[in-house]
Amino acid sequence: HADQAMYKAKANGRDNIVHYDQELGEQLRETAQLQADLKDAVEQAAIVPYFQPIYDIRTGEIRAFEVLARWRHDTRGFVPPDLFIPLAEDLGLIDRLSETLLDESVRELLDWPTEAGLSFNISPTQFSNSDLARRIATILRRHRFPGRRLEIEITERAVLRDINQARNVIAELAAMGVKIALDDFGTGTSSLSTLTQLPISRIKIDRSFVTDIATASQNSKIVSGVLALAQSLSLNVTAEGIEHEEELIFLREHDCDCGQGYYLCRPVPASEILKLFDVPKAQAAAG
Ligand code: C2E
Ligand code: MG
Ligand code: MG
Ligand code: MG
Repeated sequence: HADQAMYKAKANGRDNIVHYDQELGEQLRETAQLQADLKDAVEQAAIVPYFQPIYDIRTGEIRAFEVLARWRHDTRGFVPPDLFIPLAEDLGLIDRLSETLLDESVRELLDWPTEAGLSFNISPTQFSNSDLARRIATILRRHRFPGRRLEIEITERAVLRDINQARNVIAELAAMGVKIALDDFGTGTSSLSTLTQLPISRIKIDRSFVTDIATASQNSKIVSGVLALAQSLSLNVTAEGIEHEEELIFLREHDCDCGQGYYLCRPVPASEILKLFDVPKAQAAAG
């Protein structure tokens, strides 16, 4: 019996190893396939911009549209950007992807009856590239799109990689009239020193703090504190991820100037934008 048990254990062990190998192999194959698909998608410009309005919550006007990359995979459906953006960075595809998205977004925006701007996300690796401002300038010039209508969203992670490099890039962008927003504010480290060391014009309060501000006392203290801080530093503030009316009311009462979120409008493809101008969500945002 002991022999039998031992034999069984060994067999199981071996079996598990074989199984594990198969699983790992499958995962690797899947990742390799996704990488290959991503490369094709970038080359064929199959990753498209969606647009989420950012409202001035005091007037209800659309201030800007945040560009959010959307990749609809043939078999997987929508792949989340939190997954494919880092992959594109690793594969060296991010510059190409980003340029296509910005070019397409500017082209779209210029077709709409609005003076609103674009808010465009840039990854940390792109921000480390000394070519960034020149690349952006080329696209803006192609469309005669004024730099003052563009805001670049960066995270603290991007800034903290190399603060001197960040300062240079921001100065180059500022010379073109392009402004800088600090995205996901509050989720990184040393938020406060970043604010005073760099000419940032806006902070975007991360969704995790906006959730339930009207009821969760911790979040409401954090957000009202951040809003007071922003005011004393003359920074504009956008609150992300507004999902309920009570959150919007709280933010308005605490002098937050801009907001975005599913309660106001979800990210939509360009084909659905014109509807927003027909039935202005302005009323909802202005309360
Ligand atoms: P982010 O820049 O912080 O964008 C906000 C995210 O919150 C978006 O997710 C948006 O769809 C989502 N969102 C907006 N309102 C609400 C709401 O009320 N509730 C909830 N639960 N979510 C809301 P998305 O589109 O999945 O993008 C995730 C992240 O991927 C972005 O975070 C950004 O960091 C990155 N990303 C997206 N597009 C690009 C891009 O073109 N370039 C780069 N570098 N990064 C991008
Ligand atoms: Mg963003
Ligand atoms: Mg954000
Ligand atoms: Mg985020």
